Amino acid sequence: MPQSSFRRDWITKPIFRLAQRALPRLSDTEREAIEAGDVWWDADIFTGNPDWKKLLAFAPAHLSEEEEQFIAGPVEELCGMVDDWKVNWLWHDLPPEVWDYLKAKKFFAMIIPKAYGGLGFSAYAHSEVIRKLSSRSICVACTAMVPNSLGPGELLLQFGTKEQQDSWLPRLARGEEIPCFGLTSPEAGSDAASMTDSGVVCRGTYEGRETLGIRLNWHKRYITLGPIATVLGLAFKLSDPDHLIGNRDDIGITLALVPTHLPGVNIGRRHLPAMHVFQNGPNWGHDVFIPMDNVIGGVGQAGKGWKMLMSALAAGRGISLPSLSAAGAAFCAHVTGAYARIREQFHVPIAKFEAIDERLGRIAATAYLLDAARRMTCAALDEGHHPAVVTAIMKAQATERMRVAVSDAMDVHGGKAIIEGPLNYLGSLYRGVPIAITVEGANIVTRALIQFGQGAIRCHPYLLKEMTALEDSDRARGLDAFDKTFWAHVRHSLVNTFRAWGRAWTGGLVAPAPDAGAARPYYRQLSRHAAAFALAVDLSLLTLGGALKRKEMISARFGDILSELYLSSAALKRWNDEGRQKDDFPLLAYCMEASFATLAVRFDEIIANFPVRPVGWLLRFLIQPFGPRRRGPSDRVTDRCALIITEPSAARDRLTVDLFHPPADESDNGVARLERAFAMTVAVQPIRDRMHTARVRDVAQAQKQRTISADEAARLKAAAEAVAAAIAVDDFAPEELTARGAAHKEDVSSQATSQQIPQSRPQAAE
Ligand SMILES: Cc1cc2nc3c(=O)[nH]c(=O)nc-3n(C[C@H](O)[C@H](O)[C@H](O)COP(=O)(O)OP(=O)(O)OC[C@H]3O[C@@H](n4cnc5c(N)ncnc54)[C@H](O)[C@@H]3O)c2cc1C
Repeated sequence: MPQSSFRRDWITKPIFRLAQRALPRLSDTEREAIEAGDVWWDADIFTGNPDWKKLLAFAPAHLSEEEEQFIAGPVEELCGMVDDWKVNWLWHDLPPEVWDYLKAKKFFAMIIPKAYGGLGFSAYAHSEVIRKLSSRSICVACTAMVPNSLGPGELLLQFGTKEQQDSWLPRLARGEEIPCFGLTSPEAGSDAASMTDSGVVCRGTYEGRETLGIRLNWHKRYITLGPIATVLGLAFKLSDPDHLIGNRDDIGITLALVPTHLPGVNIGRRHLPAMHVFQNGPNWGHDVFIPMDNVIGGVGQAGKGWKMLMSALAAGRGISLPSLSAAGAAFCAHVTGAYARIREQFHVPIAKFEAIDERLGRIAATAYLLDAARRMTCAALDEGHHPAVVTAIMKAQATERMRVAVSDAMDVHGGKAIIEGPLNYLGSLYRGVPIAITVEGANIVTRALIQFGQGAIRCHPYLLKEMTALEDSDRARGLDAFDKTFWAHVRHSLVNTFRAWGRAWTGGLVAPAPDAGAARPYYRQLSRHAAAFALAVDLSLLTLGGALKRKEMISARFGDILSELYLSSAALKRWNDEGRQKDDFPLLAYCMEASFATLAVRFDEIIANFPVRPVGWLLRFLIQPFGPRRRGPSDRVTDRCALIITEPSAARDRLTVDLFHPPADESDNGVARLERAFAMTVAVQPIRDRMHTARVRDVAQAQKQRTISADEAARLKAAAEAVAAAIAVDDFAPEELTARGAAHKEDVSSQATSQQIPQSRPQAAE
């Protein structure tokens, strides 16, 4: 029954009508994306008053004994089997024994439950596997990643019928089927919902029997595992002109399983993504007929493909690429710290130069932050959350920050990381960065539209409820719901305005913080910024409404603020969960100070560019009265972070824990050589210090004047040899390179003459 009252009928009702007219209509795909997954810590941030005790009480991610054994066993063994240089530059594929091992040990079935023969791993175990593999070979990591991410496996688990699950999952688990997922087409990339790939409901013959099914025509590209897939998960637009399954002509985006042996399927050609040779390529189909049973989830799920995809992405996006990125940053910290320690110029290790320390400090802190966020996100996924906004933040921020860490690592290594060959351990990662930036939602669009655009609606304590009330077809019921929510929203906004103002004008001194030892002031600052964020969001929604969606630069900056608050929370949680390690404090301090500086700048940019100027002035007065005043980490903190990765220590080990370490006897492996040289250089440092005090640089001279013993001279010589081996780069006989080039030319010309583009290939691909 409608609850008539003066407030409802005379105050809320006109606002309700006004808001209904002003409310931009969400498209179906936008609504489905917003409805996918759930909310978690992101929603706490949006309240403006996050509950830190709740965050700290949240159980950290952990591995079961079985998962630990898998990582120490098959994962370690697989890493040992892969020679990334040969894979990329000589073989252009993983060797057959690696493919067999991947299938036999069920690397493609980490997410498939044991009941179907899979490994049934937690999100954290899955992430740890990808992280370790990434520290050895991007190719093998991407190969293992895809079947466990957005693909038929995840979709079947979430939406498949019992028959589909029983039929496909055991075969996927055993590696008898190689899956891929085809969403992207030439004309539809980021705007994937605009695909022109089509399916028409019709009668046809399948395996000798006449049956109701779908005639498919499609052209997809960039599909990972596509060239060798035996089953293609396909997204297409379904229509039913003869009304065979209902009374609608256009049914909408639908997902189906297409066995790749069917007539009309063209699969096998390969792309070469940034000279990474994981299997990736285009595929297309011409009048391919599949039975209705192949629609994922059955005919009842026809037309619900977009929602299914968004739901599957909500979890997967938080694991694969964040794990690869965390591995990338930790790997950069590991090798760059060691390299800066052993590489000398001007007679001192380059790690002694402040300008190098600036980069080393940033790499170390990035590694700390990304792994903190990865672990926290995995813990949430393992608790059963599917936080779509958090995982979008993780995907975009982790890959973006890895990009900076890898660039820093390249710069510190100089020519050593530029010259390709088996001794180059960074080139492959460097080439892979743009792939991570682009896939699973390219970063620019993710930052501009998803992190905040979806976050504002999904995570805001009242907005979605208000929108739902405004769209309610029962106007009286809608008005009732709106009346309750709107006034709660007003109360919340008023309280938050005073909260944000008070916290800003006192520099965060009165903001709440848990009893977290030396980290306590950081919580206060985050509480202050969270309140400012919530206030700025409310004012923006009130004054810009739907136009905020088009103000991508403003929206992206809000996305950055939300991301900073999420990632910094993770860093604080990591420090707490790891027992508040004193030696790691500089890393935490760096992360927090860098975050505060970014937050201050982003708020300043929003205020300075806010389209409704009086709101900009009001925000300036309330939340940033003295302008952006944070400068980022001090030189002292940066220096201490750099030191952590240039000297062996427990803090260094914690930062680079569980990366793959090649066996010391792998003499042609750059990392093995580096680790050996690092250990030996550190070990002989006391001898060199003694020589330094005696003002003698020449080893023979030092031995002659008995500053050092013969044994010590031998150790110095061995260390120098190890360093020479570690800083060496590859070179090739001219014929080695031309031979490869000639073979390639021959190959290309033979393809051009013998392999005609199939008739059925869509014109757009020519
Ligand atoms: C190596 C590799 C593997 C892949 N694997 C798969 C796979 O297995 N299956 C699959 O289906 N797809 C796959 N993809 C496709 C991938 O998801 C797309 O490349 C991605 O969605 C971006 O599409 P696009 O490359 O066409 O770029 P475009 O959509 O053309 O985007 C170009 C630029 O415009 C930006 N942009 C677009 N719209 C907006 C907007 N509204 N606001 C601001 N900026 C915007 C983007 O961020 C990007 O920077 C893969 C791609 C690569 C490179």
